[in-house]
Amino acid sequence: VVVDNAIKKLPKHFASGVTIESTVEKSLPFIYGDRIRLAQVMLNLFTNAIRYNERSPQIKILASYDEKYVHISVADNGIGINSEHLDKVFDRFYCVENGKIRPSGSTGLGLAICKGIVEAHGGCIRAESSQGLGSVFTISIPQYNCDGDKYEET
Ligand code: ATP
Ligand code: MG
Repeated sequence: VVVDNAIKKLPKHFASGVTIESTVEKSLPFIYGDRIRLAQVMLNLFTNAIRYNERSPQIKILASYDEKYVHISVADNGIGINSEHLDKVFDRFYCVENGKIRPSGSTGLGLAICKGIVEAHGGCIRAESSQGLGSVFTISIPQYNCDGDKYEET
């Protein structure tokens, strides 16, 4: 799966008024996985970033890598998540009671599903947030290491 592709396709889903800025590091390594499910992860992160937001949503996507993983983070300028809730947002059916923002059709399953998908790929997902300022969700997926000799230079 080429990460670039998954990211580029997504912004089209969203209405105007949403600013999306993406920074993708050059020569991002390949990851091996289920394209549809990883797209679903990204979609939930985008949807959350827009939904839990009281301003005009600004989303920043950053894709980078190290020796082992490809990291994709989705940062928003939304309402943020109080630190006491931060660990729980990945639990099934967990919804932070926000008072104002409690959209119908929200099940609290999105992030639990994201976590399941990312972990099935051998990766991890984490959240950082400061209330009132915004949140950053980062997923890390192991790089695809093909057999060395397959890619031997000729
Ligand atoms: P679903 O994704 O199933 O429609 P949901 O969005 O409520 O429902 P999750 O995606 O699992 O469920 O998110 C869990 C809770 O975490 C949300 O109800 C919301 O309170 C909080 N949350 C998630 N993402 C953000 C975000 N980007 N900013 C602020 N709060 C968030
Ligand atoms: Mg959600």
